[in-house]
Amino acid sequence: MSELLIRGRVLTFVAEPQGIDDTAAWRYFEDGAVFVRGGKVVATGDYAEVRGRAGADVAVADHRPNLVLPGLIDTHLHFPQTQAIASYGAQLLEWLNTYIFVEEQKFCDTGHAAAVADRFMDELISNGTTTAVAYCSVHPESVDAYFTAAEARGMGMIGGKVMMDRNAPDALRDTPQQGYDETKALIAKWHGRGRARYAISPRFAITSTPEQLEMSQALVAENPTCYVQTHLSENKDEIAFATSLYPEAKDYTDIYARYGLLNERMLLGHCIHLSDREIAVLAETRSVGVFCPTSNLFLGSGLFDRDRFDKAGARWSVATDVGAGTSFSMLETMDEAYKVLHLRGQKLTPFNSFYRMTLGNARALGLEDQIGSLHAGANADIVVLDSSAKPAMEYRMRTATSLAQELFILQTMGDDRCVAEVYVAGKAMKAKASAKARVPETA
Ligand SMILES: [Zn+2]
Repeated sequence: MSELLIRGRVLTFVAEPQGIDDTAAWRYFEDGAVFVRGGKVVATGDYAEVRGRAGADVAVADHRPNLVLPGLIDTHLHFPQTQAIASYGAQLLEWLNTYIFVEEQKFCDTGHAAAVADRFMDELISNGTTTAVAYCSVHPESVDAYFTAAEARGMGMIGGKVMMDRNAPDALRDTPQQGYDETKALIAKWHGRGRARYAISPRFAITSTPEQLEMSQALVAENPTCYVQTHLSENKDEIAFATSLYPEAKDYTDIYARYGLLNERMLLGHCIHLSDREIAVLAETRSVGVFCPTSNLFLGSGLFDRDRFDKAGARWSVATDVGAGTSFSMLETMDEAYKVLHLRGQKLTPFNSFYRMTLGNARALGLEDQIGSLHAGANADIVVLDSSAKPAMEYRMRTATSLAQELFILQTMGDDRCVAEVYVAGKAMKAKASAKARVPETA
């Protein structure tokens, strides 16, 4: 079995940091190493100690003085929107109709879906993201393209076919029965195949009839190990429209609750304008609110209120939400998260940012035994970060005197250029992903 020692300044979390001085929440090895065998972490610690556990002829990837962390995790984005990032001038509902529902129609073409899926996975890798949860288009072929591209790279990806049976163009609508049948077949084909996991994906209450949400309820009940994902309370016009379509529901959250969709595997995009009652329901059902800061700013949707989630004991995660999100980079995402919370009068420490991108998001997915930290037995999904990758960063780093400062510089000034290497199940992937991303497509 192939063995590799990945050497550098190793940082991995063991708990959620309770403040900037909570050093018990993380482990840091100034001259550290991760010993990888057969795609899994065997040991993490001081280089001298870990070196002794490997064979004499083990290969060493020496990344000093760069930081070595668990691969980053993105809990919400849309693979068919890869070429729709930066679509100008509209808020959510107009943006969907004007740009997104046009773009997603292209994914009935399997060649197009495959080409975009390849670029999408390479873009994630280039940005240090090794696991993500994505919506595909309504076309089952787009799901095949997505998981095929992930499997070719050994990535642990989660995703599913979007279900929509109203308030969308004809070409993007399924029916309740078709959505059910296609989802069921895709689950049978992909869920649990290698590292692939399926997410049952009714887009949101506006684009699903009560009959489709009933079918979604059946899918969730019949497939208890699948994830579920949808959108909730992103934009005020959206809330008014959704609740008008379900007048019997107490509020937007209650629409999904009535159809049995809220559980610990449910990822709810945005959750910006929730009442206390709704947040209490999320806490009670252990559903996860997904904070997408670049998207929320880009569409002018609003400011996520983290402290209300924390006070209510509700779970939350972070995500890019490409293509309303403006970057594939989780570093840039946490930069915007910091600013959004700042506008709310809330603080996000650099340790908490890096916890959220790694172990925090892994816990939101219930995958902390496999990803998000560098414990023995974890998948060797690893990112190597260069805090001086850009001239302005290198210049700023000359005055940094602590790890906290370095992490904050990385999140505030960093992007894909700071990702020096990415290992997916122990294999170095960054150079290949970046090189391919520069080749223009001819087809
Ligand atoms: Zn979204």
